[in-house]
Amino acid sequence: MRAGWVPPPARRVRALRARLRELYGLPSLPPHGDPLAELVLTVLSQSTNDRNRDVAYLRLRERLPTWEQVRDADVAVVRDAIQPGGLHVQKSRRIQDVLRALPEDLGLSWMREAPVGGRDGSRAFLCALPGVGRKTAACVLLFSYGLRDIPVDTHVARVGTRLGLLRPHAALDPELHDAMLALTPPRAELELHVNLLRHGRRTCHAQRPACAACGLRRMCPKVGVA
Ligand code: SF4
Repeated sequence: MRAGWVPPPARRVRALRARLRELYGLPSLPPHGDPLAELVLTVLSQSTNDRNRDVAYLRLRERLPTWEQVRDADVAVVRDAIQPGGLHVQKSRRIQDVLRALPEDLGLSWMREAPVGGRDGSRAFLCALPGVGRKTAACVLLFSYGLRDIPVDTHVARVGTRLGLLRPHAALDPELHDAMLALTPPRAELELHVNLLRHGRRTCHAQRPACAACGLRRMCPKVGVA
C-alpha cells in the first residue's frame, strides 16, 4: 500500500459485488482440471481475441495431440499450428520453454491440494516458469482448480481503479494482484473477476466509458470523468 491510498472498506466491496451480480448474474464456470491447457491458452491469448486464440489452440491440439508432442516437436511445427493466433514465432518458443521447464511427466495435478501462497506454494512455482507472471498463474489456479487467486487483466484493472477498489497507476504485477486478492472474499474470486471483466467489456470501456448507461454510476467516483 502507498502513502495516501486507502483500500476500500469491506462494505463497499460487498455493495459493488452485489450490484455487479444484479447486472451480470453469478458466473458459472466449473474448474476444468487441466492446468497445462490453461497455461498454453494464456500464452496464446496474448495480443489477440478469443476467437483467434481458440482457433490456434484447436489446430495445435489436432496436429500435436499430447503435450509431450508439443514440447518435443520442431518449433516450426508448433509455430505453423498456432499461426492464426498471431505472434506465432514468439508464442511457439514461449510454449515450448514453459513445457520444457516443467518436470518430465508434465504433471501439475499436485497443485490441486498444495498451498497456493508462500515460497513453496503453487503460485510461486508457476511464476518461476519462463514468461509466467501473476495473471497467468492466477488463471491456472482459479480456472483449473478453483483455487484462491484472481487474475487482474486490463479490464479488471481499469474498472477496479475507476471504482476506487484499486490504487491508480499501480503495477499489475504484483501490486494489483495482491490488492485484488486482499479485497476479494474467499470463494468470490471467479465472480468478481468475471463480472468486473464483463463490465469493462460492455460498459466501462477504456476510451469513452458509457457512464450515462452504467448500472454502477451511483456508486462510481469517476462517473463522467473517467
Ligand atoms: S460510471 Fe463510468 S467510469 Fe464509473 S464504472 Fe460506470 S462506466 Fe465506468
